[in-house]
Amino acid sequence: MKSMVKNDTISIIIPCYNEENAINLFYYEFFASVASLNDIVDFELIFVDDGSSDLTLQKIRELSHKDNRVRYISFSKNFGKESAMYAGLKSALGNYIAIMDVDLQDPPELIKDMYYVLKHENYDCIAAKRGDRIGEPKLRSLLSDIFYKIINAISDTEFVSGARDYRLMTRAMVDSILELKEYNRFSKGIFSWVGYKTKWISYENVQRSVGETKWNMCKLISYSLDGIIAFSTKPLAISSFLGIISIMLASILIIAIIVKTLIFGDPVAGYPSLVCIILMLSGLILFSIGIIGQYLSRIYLEVKHRPVYIIKESNTYTSENTHSDK
Ligand code: UDP
Ligand code: MG
Repeated sequence: MKSMVKNDTISIIIPCYNEENAINLFYYEFFASVASLNDIVDFELIFVDDGSSDLTLQKIRELSHKDNRVRYISFSKNFGKESAMYAGLKSALGNYIAIMDVDLQDPPELIKDMYYVLKHENYDCIAAKRGDRIGEPKLRSLLSDIFYKIINAISDTEFVSGARDYRLMTRAMVDSILELKEYNRFSKGIFSWVGYKTKWISYENVQRSVGETKWNMCKLISYSLDGIIAFSTKPLAISSFLGIISIMLASILIIAIIVKTLIFGDPVAGYPSLVCIILMLSGLILFSIGIIGQYLSRIYLEVKHRPVYIIKESNTYTSENTHSDK
């Protein structure tokens, strides 16, 4: 092998939750795919074990004993992929940093293209999105389309449909991302909010190597709501708007009823309509309070200043053990 001075280090952050069978597969596949970069780039793989209950941590530990390019962080419990990505970004030392799923749904061979684009073109980030949704349930695709339509309509931050978390970023961009220390992290929004120039590349949807997806419909819906609440305050405005509309409607109705009574003189016999109106209005009120409650609960979690994650074990440098520097 040629011995050359390697100028660049690429850190790969890999969140893992109960992925015991995927770890080794990923490791070999990854290094096979980037073999041509090996002479010019140093790699560090940072596996973040997100509180797995299977042998994930053990598999990662074994790899780290064999290969000193493998570092790991292990959480005290499952904190979610967002927290895992944050912990990884915090401990990455490279001047280019990528985030990848361990299930090989993010094709590792793209790293080469991403690296060359970042190196030679004027971009700060190369991000991957799925060009198609083949193999995904129809309902999930439909809901996902609706989500992107809504969030782009009511948020100033841009959300790209089909975007994965798979991306290679410069050190500058990652440092900016780390400036955002919020507790409710919605990375798709944070990546876009910090700005910088992002180039999107699409690739064909790839099936999971082994194991199962950690997402179900309920989790996806609550994740979507998190995104909307984290990146838009329009729902609050919408609820007051609905309130104003119903006040106006009610006023028109009141006038109409008064006029009708004055002209025709018959008392209003409107029990059913009354019930409907009361139901409608109390529904509106509860809906609005619900929206306020959603924001309030987020504020509550933010002001508690709880750490985004807690590290139980690690073989790597971390700027602090538990994260809470607010
Ligand atoms: N993951 C994680 N913590 C979680 C759930 C998932 O670190 O609580 C990891 C998981 O191990 C995988 C990545 O996040 O590497 C993506 O998860 P998954 O494949 O289930 O999502 P999908 O590809 O179906 O969107
Ligand atoms: Mg996956």
